[in-house]
Amino acid sequence: MKPEVLDYIAAHREECLALLVRACSQPSVSALHEGLDEMAALVGEMLRGIGFEVDLVPTDGAPVVLGRMAGSGDRTLLLYNHYDVQPVDPLDEWETPPFEPTVRDGRLYARGAADNKGAIVSRICALRAYLAHHDRPPVNIAWVIEGEEETGSPYLAQFVERYDDLLRTAYGCVWEAGGKDSRDRYTIALGCKGLLYVELRAREAARDLHSANAAIVGNPAWRLVWALSTLKGPNENILIPGFYDDIRIPSAAQKEALARWDYPEEETRALYGIDRFLCGATGDRLKEQLIFGPTCNIDGFHSGYGGPGSKTVLPAEATVKLDFRLVPEQSPERILELLKEHLASQGFGDIEVVSYEGEPPSAGDPSHPFVQTAAQVAEGIYGHAPALIPMMSGTGPVHVLCGQFGVPVVTAGVGYAGSRVHAPNENIRLDDFFAGTRYIAALLDAL
Ligand SMILES: [Zn+2]
Repeated sequence: MKPEVLDYIAAHREECLALLVRACSQPSVSALHEGLDEMAALVGEMLRGIGFEVDLVPTDGAPVVLGRMAGSGDRTLLLYNHYDVQPVDPLDEWETPPFEPTVRDGRLYARGAADNKGAIVSRICALRAYLAHHDRPPVNIAWVIEGEEETGSPYLAQFVERYDDLLRTAYGCVWEAGGKDSRDRYTIALGCKGLLYVELRAREAARDLHSANAAIVGNPAWRLVWALSTLKGPNENILIPGFYDDIRIPSAAQKEALARWDYPEEETRALYGIDRFLCGATGDRLKEQLIFGPTCNIDGFHSGYGGPGSKTVLPAEATVKLDFRLVPEQSPERILELLKEHLASQGFGDIEVVSYEGEPPSAGDPSHPFVQTAAQVAEGIYGHAPALIPMMSGTGPVHVLCGQFGVPVVTAGVGYAGSRVHAPNENIRLDDFFAGTRYIAALLDAL
């Protein structure tokens, strides 16, 4: 790579930072439909500013920003990001307001700094530096920035349908998310787990009653507790018949990548404040559980009275929210079907099952040339071989945008283990932000 490109990045740090502050100052909370059009317009403007042809593609939800730039080669590189962020509450735990980006101790604090406006702006800065010393990028670039990733990308498929010719011919995709782990090692993930999100609702009486009536009227909270106890046993086994049937065993290359991954067990335990991992897992078993293990998780359980003191009440309704993280080749539709069948067969046919989100899983191939290039470039920038993780334990729309077309994915993020993603005081380290900028510039050059 021309050293001038790296010099340019170093010489324009303040401008980049100003751009990042601007992006993080605009609220864009998809869960609350707050500021999404404004944020889409701002991102569009930033992309036009470095020479992209920009379309704000309407969907039934928030618009998808599509930026296109012709390169000198035949290949098309996809970039994927999202311009929405998670809600900010609990607001009183923020040391500085979430949408007033603040630099303290070499870190920038703001909602979205790590997830993932920092990545958007670092890519803009990388491209700007590259284009300051080249006429065109070395590859065609198609940059997809959606506005509803944090609510499960419900309308991204509409965009994909319209642009499927563009997507299916891509050479590879630089995904969002990721960065450095708790040992400060750079990590690249190649896909992500799927998700099924459901709410179970139980009802008994038409309204809340005096709890003396518990002698003669059913309690919906108990019904949910009993129903939940049929989903998973204390040994963590998921008891829904057929739940594990479609799971595909990881490939040899995926197993090898996992074995090479030096997972920071101790640091992670300390970070989470736990003494041991689930089922006492450690080593290879822990890594396999984390990356290739499906889950059935209770996100929240609500019923009756939870305030101070006592209230003797028989609640009329109880609800529980559950998420299932899925692995190849489980499908959210099939798991939902199995869940409903199972509840009915256990005598819980009266419990209403409302499904919100479903995303199929997508795992990547560590031996793909695009992945190998990304890993080599990362080693050059970060000074060590990055961890290659076939699939991250979280979920994103990898399958719909890339996985279904067989387009390989590598994550590139500017976060670190202390980034407090989705939580108060979200932050990135400025050094990581600029390293991420250099990485994208070097990756472009390598392609
Ligand atoms: Zn997120």
